[in-house]
Amino acid sequence: MNLHTINTGFFKLDGGAMFGVVPKAIWQKTNPADANNLCTWAMRCLLIEQGNQLILVDTGIGNKQDEKFFSHYYLHGNDSLEKSLAKLGFGTTDITDVFLTHLHFDHVGGAILRAGEKLLPAFKNAKYWSNEKHWQWAVEPNAREKASFLKENILPIQESGQLNFVAEKENIEWQKNINITFAYGHTDAMMLPKINYKGKTIVYMADLLPSVGHLPLPYVMAYDMFPLKTLTEKQAFLEEAVENSYILFLEHDPVNECCTLQRTEKGIRVAETFKLSDI
Ligand SMILES: [Zn+2]
Repeated sequence: MNLHTINTGFFKLDGGAMFGVVPKAIWQKTNPADANNLCTWAMRCLLIEQGNQLILVDTGIGNKQDEKFFSHYYLHGNDSLEKSLAKLGFGTTDITDVFLTHLHFDHVGGAILRAGEKLLPAFKNAKYWSNEKHWQWAVEPNAREKASFLKENILPIQESGQLNFVAEKENIEWQKNINITFAYGHTDAMMLPKINYKGKTIVYMADLLPSVGHLPLPYVMAYDMFPLKTLTEKQAFLEEAVENSYILFLEHDPVNECCTLQRTEKGIRVAETFKLSDI
């Protein structure tokens, strides 16, 4: 197996929304805000090469939205999904599986592209993976979460016939060396891949832990639908992670790709940060 980081660029989100009840005076020390109170976040995807499979985990924000939409998110950086794949010698047609942790636009936007009037899968040879519970949750969104579930990112996946569901069962083996953990606090039935790689366990954290700055327990995003559930899930996960020396792969951390954890007097905190390619 080979793992590769796929950078798809950076965007900005309101710092207050990203840190929930934590005051700005505290979070701005690690995540400085701009004049509009926005902080920079990565959209970092993961590519898994295993046997005949080339699996892409999440797809970034994509490029099919209109100028007005993108003006809210200040996209920046030189990377894109296509460029990052090309650097590794891959094209979009090589991807066999697109695994979607959840269907928020900054995770699924790159899954669909606009071709004239049509919306088509960006990976035409791939199976797309969600789960039935999250899919239902996303296609009939509540008013608070509706702005994150864009129909144009979601419905064309089903129309293409490329949609597949992972069975919703804790720690299910989805592929050889890849198990799936479910989390329900950020949104309903988000999926986190747990990957056996070079004798270690790498966990793709998606929005259970967006960045190293979110490690202290009360640092839960205001975007989360069920913050107390996130709190419980995060606590249990961090215990499991520190016990088993997991490596956490951080999708949104603007600086750090991966980290390990350690116990401290204050609770579970970062031990080391490093790049995936250093493993
Ligand atoms: Zn999300």
